Amino acid sequence: MAVFEHDVLIIGAGLAGMRAAISAQQEGADVAIISKVHPVRSHSNAAQGGINAAIGPEDSWEDHAFDTVKGSDYLADQDAVEVLCQEAGAEVIAMENMGVIFHRDETGHLGTRAFGGQQRQRTYFVGDITGQALLHVLYEQLIKHGLRVYEEWFVTDLIVEDGVCKGAVVMEIRTGQLSVIGARAVIIATGGNGRVYEPTTNALICTGDGIGLAYRAGVPIMDMEMVQFHPTTLKGSGVLITEGARGEGAHLLNAASERFMEKYAPNMMELASRDVVSRAEQTEIDEGRGVDGCVLLDCSHLGYDLIHERLWQIREIGLDFVGVDIVNTPIPVKPGNHYIMGGIKTDINGRTPMEGLYAAGETACVSVHGANRLGANSLLDTVVFGRRSGVDAAERAKSKEISMPGERYAEEVGKGIQSLLDRPLNGDRVAKIRLDMGNMMSEKAQVFRTETKLKEAVEDLKGIRQRYDRVGVENKGKVFNTDLLFAIELGYMIDCAEMTAVSAVERKESRGAHYRVDYPERDDANWLKHIACTYSPAGPQLSYMPVTITRWQPQERKY
Ligand SMILES: Cc1cc2nc3c(=O)[nH]c(=O)nc-3n(C[C@H](O)[C@H](O)[C@H](O)COP(=O)(O)OP(=O)(O)OC[C@H]3O[C@@H](n4cnc5c(N)ncnc54)[C@H](O)[C@@H]3O)c2cc1C
Repeated sequence: MAVFEHDVLIIGAGLAGMRAAISAQQEGADVAIISKVHPVRSHSNAAQGGINAAIGPEDSWEDHAFDTVKGSDYLADQDAVEVLCQEAGAEVIAMENMGVIFHRDETGHLGTRAFGGQQRQRTYFVGDITGQALLHVLYEQLIKHGLRVYEEWFVTDLIVEDGVCKGAVVMEIRTGQLSVIGARAVIIATGGNGRVYEPTTNALICTGDGIGLAYRAGVPIMDMEMVQFHPTTLKGSGVLITEGARGEGAHLLNAASERFMEKYAPNMMELASRDVVSRAEQTEIDEGRGVDGCVLLDCSHLGYDLIHERLWQIREIGLDFVGVDIVNTPIPVKPGNHYIMGGIKTDINGRTPMEGLYAAGETACVSVHGANRLGANSLLDTVVFGRRSGVDAAERAKSKEISMPGERYAEEVGKGIQSLLDRPLNGDRVAKIRLDMGNMMSEKAQVFRTETKLKEAVEDLKGIRQRYDRVGVENKGKVFNTDLLFAIELGYMIDCAEMTAVSAVERKESRGAHYRVDYPERDDANWLKHIACTYSPAGPQLSYMPVTITRWQPQERKY
């Protein structure tokens, strides 16, 4: 066992984590960043469509903020949205200066594409590989600045002494060895939890680890009922077809080849906010106007040249996964799990209610997305609040004398892991429990929700947890024991699923992505508030937090 020490420890090397690391180092802190996969395999790599910013003279941060607040169905905290939109332009330019080659228009200026729920085109992009471009450039910066990267190390526990977070217990995946990393500030940037549902657009690694770690440490987790279902996920696999396709002009068609969005959002059509489009599609499918459980996304009128220049990865996905060439044939899509608006409660500097602990990126809930995130606002969230949390954490680290934790924490975690490994095999498997949970969540906590189904989900999760508490791990070895890691991850996923299901039962109204068939209206009088979950052995304990309103009073939401 080893004990390491740093000023700032960042858990997660996606966009939020790497942006935080670079800014904390620029503030003079000794920074380390840890990731369970190689940093450029972090899930930010999958982001396709782009990043929002109001940069040009025709746009303003206020318009961007209004679109974001309206998109959130007025659940976003408006002080945080103001920060997001005010700092967007500077962040996009900073990323460009670091080396991201954004798309340029015919005049040589940065070019934009349209994205859902926004009055103006303000999405900056790199073809349909924007996340990959950003991630690789930030990784270059990490290397350039010589930051300490614990690559393919896995965080199992936070270390908390007297209510202060002082580091984490970590496992080097290559050797299975446990260590303690002490830190004067810890930033969780572990991304989303999409794999709680099956299928999802998220990678296998998106298992909500950071949300689970913070929850078990007693930190409030907010807005977990707000799960985004993206309107264009591919039939079968659930792979994402970027909203950028509709931004470039693709149409959604039903079985009668009608552009059905005319009925649901006559002004914005296919570019209404995601919750609205997903419900419209599901209604078409449920009422018998779908095509084999899907609707069709038609890009054929966009032409080969545009597709080749801006949507080539989407073309490849269509060819590889369903054998359809989007250049001439519509592709089958349906609403699918994509993003968690909720997460670890933070303020605008990434501080959680626990001293010494920060969170940023998809794992955090600032909350700038409220009940529905606008497309291309998540990459922005990662870099804006990643940077801010890095700066604040570095300042804390420099200004506080904090005693560092010893190796006994790793010993305790080691005992827990050993007892998991010692459990007899009982015929059940981690992968089976995970799949059963994902399918169940997709059925019972989906686009259209009812109290009956949600309560069933809560009950089913009790059974899932009982199975989890008894399941054995087949591989008893130390080296690259992914069997063991999957078992640990499943624990975080069950925590996340419980918070989603319990909060969704609680919220008796329809707002953004949370649509209750039994309470179809938004109810500002009773529910213009956040739901927070706090850990207890009996399950999530619920409390409420006010929504911060600065200048945009709730209005009826139409697209
Ligand atoms: C297919 C797809 C397309 C998208 N397209 C867009 C888009 O065009 N625009 C947009 O704004 N948003 C988009 N999004 C959303 C956006 O990409 C994500 O929300 C964002 O990239 C998340 O970044 P992150 O830094 O928070 O987390 P991630 O990039 O997921 O990084 C998480 C990091 O945490 C590490 N980690 C996790 N658990 C542990 C652990 N226990 N121990 C150690 N390390 C751990 C991982 O290794 C990884 O390094 C898209 C999402 C998907 C799924």
